[in-house]
Amino acid sequence: MSEHQKQGRLSVVLPSFNEEASIPRAAQCITTLLNQDAIDHELIFVDDGSRDGTWAVIQAQTAQYPQVRGVRFSRNFGKEAAIFAGLAQANGDCVVVMDCDLQHPPEKVLEMYRLWQKGYQVVEGIKVSRGKENPLYTFAARSFYAILSRATGIDMSRASDFKLLDRRAVDTLLAMREKNAFFRALSSWIGFSTAQVEFEVQPRLEGESKWSVGKLVRYALTNIAAFSTAPLQLITLLGVVVFICSVVLGLHSLWQKLAGHALEGFTTVILLQLVIGSILMICLGIIGYYIAKIYEEIKDRPRYIVADRCEGSSHDTKTEADL
Ligand code: UDP
Ligand code: MG
Repeated sequence: MSEHQKQGRLSVVLPSFNEEASIPRAAQCITTLLNQDAIDHELIFVDDGSRDGTWAVIQAQTAQYPQVRGVRFSRNFGKEAAIFAGLAQANGDCVVVMDCDLQHPPEKVLEMYRLWQKGYQVVEGIKVSRGKENPLYTFAARSFYAILSRATGIDMSRASDFKLLDRRAVDTLLAMREKNAFFRALSSWIGFSTAQVEFEVQPRLEGESKWSVGKLVRYALTNIAAFSTAPLQLITLLGVVVFICSVVLGLHSLWQKLAGHALEGFTTVILLQLVIGSILMICLGIIGYYIAKIYEEIKDRPRYIVADRCEGSSHDTKTEADL
């Protein structure tokens, strides 16, 4: 895009939850790669309230590499919070967010950085395939992304959290006040000149996925509510369908009354009561869920609480207020 390539500092944000086994490899691998190409960089590990030795391992990395920093949460706040904490800490001209289990291939960071040098402000990592998954999980994931893609107007089916963001994009994201921020969608929603880099999801080398089914369902529901009001519109749609049914049934009952056999159909009455009762409850539940989300936002609690920090010795500190 631009005539001469820009140089700049690269911050790499790595959310980590119970990752003591993966962190040393991640730090070593990324540092070696960036040093080879003489890219000025810093690594920020965000310990998302791990219960294993993650924090001690992060501290050990800061002793070994001057360009590594660590932030520790007071408890597990979730990956989204960890990403935003990393973005707030980063002082690079561009920031890459990636998993610390190396399922996002580190070589692609270089590719992303080159695209940033050419002038792109957002570089998205796009999954070539979703890897091996249970069919039920694939179906659930497809439905989730179909709703989100409609809500954002961007194809989210192969989107990931593996992204590079220019300083402008990072500041834009940090300025957003919503607490239920969904990084993957929000970073596309903000726009800016965007490029894509395809990557193959690597197998996990250490430990196992940190997502339980319950956590995933909650994650999906929260993010749908954060990005879309489609469930609320569904209620209106349901109302219209029920109304059409009631007109048909109403005419039918009236006709029966006029024909003189109105006492029939007690089963129908019970069934209708049950169906309408359940529909009403579900609708109230959906509305209630949005009200709960509004309540959460309005309380204006911080996205995360930082309990501790550490950094490599020769690092120049930048003080900033958190959240
Ligand atoms: N992670 C996190 N907080 C959580 C769950 C996960 O910071 O509550 C981090 C985790 O350490 C990893 C990344 O998010 O770096 C992706 O998690 P994981 O590999 O478990 O998910 P998957 O790759 O299976 O989607
Ligand atoms: Mg992973």
